[in-house]
Formats: sequence, C-alpha cells, structure tokens
Amino acid sequence: MLVCQGKGVCDGIAIGKIKLLKKNTENIKRVHIDDIEKELIKFNNARENSKKQLLSLCVEAETDIGKENAAIFEIHSMMIDDADYIESIENIIKTQKINAEYAVAQTGDNFSEMFSSIDDEYMKSRSIDVKDISERIIRNLMDENTEESKLSEKSIIIADDLAPSETIRLDKDKVLSFVTVKGSANSHTAILARTLNIPSVVGCDIEMSSDIDGKTAIVDGFSGKIYIEPDDETIENMKRKMAESDIRKEYLSTLKGKESITLDGKKIKLYANIGNIIDLAAVFANDGDGIGLFRSEFIYLEKNDFPTEEEQFRIYKKAAETMGEKKIIIRTLDIGSDKKASYFNLRKEENSAMGYRAIRICLNEPDIFKSQLRAIYRASVYGNISIMYPMITSVEEVKKIKLIVSEVKKELETEGIKIGNVEQGIMIETPAAAIVSDELAKEVDFFSIGTNDLTQYTLAVDRQNEKLDEFYNPHHKAVLRMIKTVTDNAHKNNIWVGICGELGADISITEFFLGIGIDEISVVPSSILTLRQKIRETDTRNIDVEKWL
Ligand code: PEP
Ligand code: MG
Repeated sequence: MLVCQGKGVCDGIAIGKIKLLKKNTENIKRVHIDDIEKELIKFNNARENSKKQLLSLCVEAETDIGKENAAIFEIHSMMIDDADYIESIENIIKTQKINAEYAVAQTGDNFSEMFSSIDDEYMKSRSIDVKDISERIIRNLMDENTEESKLSEKSIIIADDLAPSETIRLDKDKVLSFVTVKGSANSHTAILARTLNIPSVVGCDIEMSSDIDGKTAIVDGFSGKIYIEPDDETIENMKRKMAESDIRKEYLSTLKGKESITLDGKKIKLYANIGNIIDLAAVFANDGDGIGLFRSEFIYLEKNDFPTEEEQFRIYKKAAETMGEKKIIIRTLDIGSDKKASYFNLRKEENSAMGYRAIRICLNEPDIFKSQLRAIYRASVYGNISIMYPMITSVEEVKKIKLIVSEVKKELETEGIKIGNVEQGIMIETPAAAIVSDELAKEVDFFSIGTNDLTQYTLAVDRQNEKLDEFYNPHHKAVLRMIKTVTDNAHKNNIWVGICGELGADISITEFFLGIGIDEISVVPSSILTLRQKIRETDTRNIDVEKWL
C-alpha cells in the first residue's frame, strides 16, 4: 500500500480505480517565424474561437449545473479579452518572431506564476484559470479537438492540475473523486468539487507515473490522504468512515430550504462570504440566504492595471442577476496591508496593517473610488445590492464617503442612468469604530463586524504572523464586549448588525451571537449548513450572555 498526502478540499471517501489524466498541450516547441502578421491573425482567430467555445460552454453548463456554476466560463471568456494578456502574447510574437503557440504558452506560464506568487490562496487559484484559457487557445492553434476524454467506468481522477473547463466536461456520474498534484483549496476545481459534493484532494505529493493508472485507490477527503492498493484493514476503516460521513451529509442537505431559526423562533440571516462571482455556485449549493461580504478587492488583485468601470460593472451585474432578490453586500476596495497590487504603487510600510489601505486610499484617491461606486450603482438595478465600507474609524470618514456617493449618484442621474435603492453599511473592524458605534449607527443602514481585523487591532496581534497564533484569540473578553456594545448601539438606533469575520463560522460561539441578538452571520459557503443546524438547535432563552463577558 502506498500512502500519499495532500489537502482535502471536499469531505467524503471514495473507493475505486485510478484514471490518470495527462495533457498534450505541454512541451510546446519554440519555432522561428518570418510572417509576423500571419502569426498575429492566427493567434486572434484561435482566441476568437476559444471565446466562442467558452460562451457556448457557459450556456450548456447553465442547463447542466445551473447559472451560478456556469459563471466561471463567462469569467474565462472575459479573461481571454484581457488587454494585458493579449498585449503580452502579441509582443512576444512580434519581438521574438516566434510561433503563436509558444507565445501563448509563455504568457500563460508568466501570468500563472505571477498569480501563484501572491501570498493569498484565492489569488493562487487564479493561476489555474489563466493556464486553462491558455491551453484552450493552444489547442485551437494546434487544431485539436477541445473535447475532453470520455470515462469508460467510474474512476478516481488524478491529474497534475485540473482546470474548471476540464472538470466540468467530465461525466460527473463517473467521477468518484478528484486528486491533483497542484491546486489550492480555493481553486475553482475545488469549489466545483464541493459544489458537486465529490471527495477531493489538491496539492497531493503523488507521482504522476503511468504505473498507478488503473490501480485501486481510496481517497479520504477529510484527511487529504490517498491510499493506493490499500490493505484490507484500511479498506474496512475507510468503509466505516464513508458510511458515517454519508449520514452526516444527508442530514445537512435536509437543512437546505429550511429557515435559520432558533427553537424559540428567532430568525437569523445566514449569508455567505465570497471573493468572486464564481463562488456564487457554492452559495447556491449550500443554500445561502444572500452574500454578506463580497471582497471586491480580488477583482483588482487579479489585474495588472486598474479594472475599468465597465469591467467592474459586468462583474457586479452578473452577481446581482444571479442572486436575484437575495441581498448581495459588496465591500468596497480593501486593498493594502497583505493585499497588494503593484499598479497602486503602494510604498513599503513598516506597519502595513495599520497603514495606507482600504477606505483611506479611496478617500485620498477619489477617482479610484468613484469608478468602483459608479460600477456598483449601475449594477444595482439588476438585483438587490448593498454597499459597505471597510476600515472605518470615524464619523467624519462616513460623512466624506456620503459626499462622494452623492456626487456619483448625481453624475449618473445627469447621464440618464437608472440606479437601484442601495443600503449603505460599514464594517466595524477597528476598536475606534466599535467605541463610537453609537454615533456611527446614526449615519448608516447597517453594521457588519469584521472580527478578523477587530481581533488583530484590539489585541495588537498581527493576524498574518503564524508565530502569534496562540495570542490571536477572538474569544477574548475585550473583543466580545466590543461586539456586544456594537450590537446594542446598532439596535438602539434601529439598524441591523451582522458578523462577517471568520468567527461567524465558529459554532462554539454561536450561542453568544444569538444571545446578544446578532441579526446576520456571513460565513464561507461550506459552513452555512453546519451553522444552520447549530442555530436550529439553540434556544436563546437559555443563553447566559454574561458568562462570555
Ligand atoms: C474582517 O476583518 O473580519 C473581515 C471580514 O475582512 P477581511 O478578513 O477581508 O479583512
Ligand atoms: Mg478586515
């Protein structure tokens, strides 16, 4: 028996035969060309073809797996039009006088490396997307059939890397599990696996040798372990684990469509945190009531230059349309600190978490802020959009924001552009905001408590520093007392208050949140149903809030 280790991204156990998937777009040869014009035309034709394929894939996927799952292909069709991406390929063809296949492969590798070098799981996963579209263009350049291979029997798929378009093309009835050597927990393949509820492991130290093709294996999505040619004892243990997990999954899925309501009848809005519209699939799969935090800065982090208003508008519009009547709270640009994009030209700071970031940049550079606000307001007629502002510390900041917002609304009105009714909220993630929350509550429609930063700033513990993990305690009384004060101040002023930091998914503290009367909790999609179960089992009449304080 051979045991390999990776990162489990979708719980569950799968037992079956291995099917090794290898790509034939690797090892592209560099060929000198004389006719640059001809090569550019060839590239652009392949790009157009790829775009058409992606759009039809998007339509097909909509019927197969729903609008929210299909959004990935629309994103890919947008990426294929990205000016930086096209410019890079065309430049390589022109300056190096080489074949389009090689230029696309080189650009795909460069962009992919750039994304994977960013110290953020979400950004790392974008590197797979750019590889996916590059491989598609190359297949078109090589005139290859872009259809994926058919599976003849139920199999555990093992690949170096799996792009979403490859994943979606596989016959899901025959896929027992996905295992990849590369990939992160936030990759779209991982998201799709979770959406489809297929036990999966990424970043696995498995060797891609043809020896393992066809062998029996067990994938443990809980522990991230793969057992190749397992012994009898392992098979028995895993079968038991599989039966237990099936019962748990089945139970959680019965909570879909049910209310998030306590035993004594208190209803909680259970929303999801997302970083991109692709994540909408997981929100639907886990029956989120809305989006409580759309981290819009990821749109900026994916680019080499500021996204245009139009690009942003398309993304927010798609999100609004997909969510329909369900609320979607877009947090404005929270760039800076650990989330940096080179084109912002941010100076290196000694103490960047307390530095030039988020709303401070937006207020200082209103053109950047206005372009985002215009895009959000334009999209607001297509659904139920709210906005919230990060890193607020004072009433003065909120007043400045309101001034800019009213200018934007006036501009749009003058241009004859319709806008919807957009609730205005702020994040409470600095101790300053918590302390003056009585005054802030008079200025906005809602509060959303960012417990990640609130803990970091209250306890003076850098959330990025793993050496400080033992000091990073969001259950600290100082943090919980602030959360209670903020909640009381919100309610005294008749506005609602939610939690959007990671603490929201910690079911060991749900009772406290319910006890103080939190109105909304927003968590990663995969935590929604577990949290719903906890809420439905709680009776707030029995909660002693004081014990936490
Ligand atoms: C927070 O600080 O709790 C939060 C939700 O925002 P982020 O984690 O993106 O800083
Ligand atoms: Mg924060």
